[in-house]
Amino acid sequence: MLTSLYLKVARALSNSTMKYISTRKNNESVSFKEAVINGLSNNGGLYFPESIPQLPQAFFNNIEAYSDAAIAFQALKPFVEEDLSNEQLKAIIAETLTFPTPTVPVEGNMFALELFHGPTQAFKDVGARFMSRCLSQFYAEQHQDVTILVATSGDTGSAVANGFYNVPGVQVKILFPKGKISPYQEFQMTSLGKNIQAIEVEGVFDDCQQLVKQAFNDQELRKQVTLSSANSINIARLLPQMLYYFLAYKQLKPILGDQKLVVSVPSGNLGNLTAGLIAQQMGLPITHFVAALNANDTFLQYLNTGSYTAKPSVATYSNAMDVGNPSNFERIAHLFQNDLSQIKKHVSAFSINDAATLEEIKHCYAHNNYVLDPHGAVAKLGLAQYNSPNSIGVFLGTAHPQKFAAVIQKVVPVSYGETVDLSRCKKVSMRNDYEAFKDLIKKKKT
Ligand SMILES: *Cc1c(COP(=O)(O)O)cnc(C)c1O
Repeated sequence: MLTSLYLKVARALSNSTMKYISTRKNNESVSFKEAVINGLSNNGGLYFPESIPQLPQAFFNNIEAYSDAAIAFQALKPFVEEDLSNEQLKAIIAETLTFPTPTVPVEGNMFALELFHGPTQAFKDVGARFMSRCLSQFYAEQHQDVTILVATSGDTGSAVANGFYNVPGVQVKILFPKGKISPYQEFQMTSLGKNIQAIEVEGVFDDCQQLVKQAFNDQELRKQVTLSSANSINIARLLPQMLYYFLAYKQLKPILGDQKLVVSVPSGNLGNLTAGLIAQQMGLPITHFVAALNANDTFLQYLNTGSYTAKPSVATYSNAMDVGNPSNFERIAHLFQNDLSQIKKHVSAFSINDAATLEEIKHCYAHNNYVLDPHGAVAKLGLAQYNSPNSIGVFLGTAHPQKFAAVIQKVVPVSYGETVDLSRCKKVSMRNDYEAFKDLIKKKKT
């Protein structure tokens, strides 16, 4: 009933199809499918929806009546309907939201939104799963098999590899630097098998990245194999991250009353924050966002000074946020038409150092019996610093504490039983040699 009412309203509202434009002004205007396949706009900008669709107030008023999958469908449909049928979108959502994202009370009016119950125990699973299925669908329509090349220094690679696992028509070659990633990360990439080939390179991350670039520039190779990247800036990774915020709102609405809802996002490339801001622009009643940063505070400096200056990244405990030049800054600036005062109206930023992060992990365990990972700790401290009265605060728990056991165990007496068994894992070892890499790309693995 509700759904059909909504659909009528939505249909009336959608008088044009969604186009994607570049954050760096040009005349490019592409469909969702083209944006997903291209990855990056042809002038180097990032793709962004031409306009943000609004969902009707009735949808938010009745959000508890919808299943999570139905909420995801309503939120994503306007962005993809040109290129995915309702059935296709529903199937992709069903394969994307395969784990819960609970809001857990932690302290006072603060809740953790736990996004780490997916296969690689970090929030990137949702984006990776959604994107992989979109790519698979679009290449299948062109009757093409595609080979995805990924260079990774750890986490992103495992989420991407996992996202593509068993996806038809897709081969994945994932390159990682030998001895430079944790056993746990290696396990996550090498234990999959099937269409995922993990390649250990004798070199550093930059060598892996260079090999991938060389393959993309090899026109001869590209005549033989369709190559694609699973870049973190792909719009199909960003959009599904909106769902976290919708699902959090659904869970908290019954206790929200007339209180404000403030969400703190531990941020690196600002992708997760951008997704939250888009959800807000669609009408989701989030009052304010906190961009919780570690020592890599480029975005905070921008909010303070109005000028954006990229910096080299510095290493911290919350290493997935060690980003000195956050790629999605462009999208946030674009969303608010480069109006600093508008951005500040919606987002406050705080920078939290490693000592405070560690202290918070200790404090939170002692006082609330809740184990934070370093990214969650940064987010919780950022939320506390914003300190808005008459509000419910949510901080995003983006990684399972287990992934950062070495940091956590400095201050909290937890142990995570099993150590990983790499003995049955499969990987190919390779010198830092392009010809060898090329041979691996051409060899189809089944
Ligand atoms: C990627 C990541 C972040 C940062 O997210 P962005 O979208 O890059 O801002 C935070 N926490 C964890 C655990 C991550 O993997």
